[in-house]
Amino acid sequence: MKTRREKIVEILSKNGDMTLQELVDLTNSSLKMVVEDMDKVRKTIKSENKRIKVSPASCMGCSYVFSGRSRISDPTKCPECHSERISPQRFRIVSG
Ligand SMILES: [Zn+2]
Repeated sequence: MKTRREKIVEILSKNGDMTLQELVDLTNSSLKMVVEDMDKVRKTIKSENKRIKVSPASCMGCSYVFSGRSRISDPTKCPECHSERISPQRFRIVSG
């Protein structure tokens, strides 16, 4: 029996480019739990010389890109045009 965290690591290693919502659906869990898990996973996989690669969120209104963001949770509002239509971050686990 895998823990939810192990399952997330497996999904992000094999499938890649998953949104938080997709992880919530695949693990039958809540957004809050997945965000917490991802924070932990980010630390634990370091010892295996792996890291979480993030494709940044972007605004669907003005194409603003939320680059250089360190938080796991998705932004909710564009700082440029104040749109709340945000294309979410996508995560994958890569080596090195
Ligand atoms: Zn915008």
